[in-house]
Amino acid sequence: MRHAVYPGSFDPFTNGHLDIVQRAIKIVDAVTIAVLKNTSKKSMFTPDERVEIIREVVRPYPQVKVEPFEGLMVDFCRTHNIRIVIRGLRAVSDFDYEHAIFLMNRKLLPDLETMFFMAGSENSFISSTIVKEVAHFGGNIADQVPPFVLESMQKKKNTDA
Ligand code: ADP
Repeated sequence: MRHAVYPGSFDPFTNGHLDIVQRAIKIVDAVTIAVLKNTSKKSMFTPDERVEIIREVVRPYPQVKVEPFEGLMVDFCRTHNIRIVIRGLRAVSDFDYEHAIFLMNRKLLPDLETMFFMAGSENSFISSTIVKEVAHFGGNIADQVPPFVLESMQKKKNTDA
């Protein structure tokens, strides 16, 4: 049984993230989306809200689970007996950061392997940060996030207003 973890902030979960998950489950048997709690980025949704939203989005895929996590990703992998990490690459600009994480994780847990999925051209410009910015100023992001994420963002905007 090949079980992989897909860690990230997912604030919010975009079509780019969903595409990675859909492609990963063609290769591995199960994917756990691990939603980072200890992120320094300013967040739109709390980690628990993100977990709930992503669970709704991946409901059609029984082999995909969503869990919050804090601390080291390698500890999450040890606890869940996972040795495959999934990450996405959009452009060269992602490379240095992903490479640094890869090298550090490999040092901390040598038998951990990282699988990288390149974003297709339709998703390569989608980033959670930009989606948040555009939505904040009322721009249309309907083709960049799953419908349930869009709804949740609209609800959040209305509550915050
Ligand atoms: P992090 O804060 O760990 O970078 P993100 O939620 O921004 O978390 O992204 C999680 C992973 O998904 C990262 O490997 C990131 O490069 C990748 N990713 C983000 N957006 C896209 C996209 N549009 N297409 C492909 N991969 C993506």
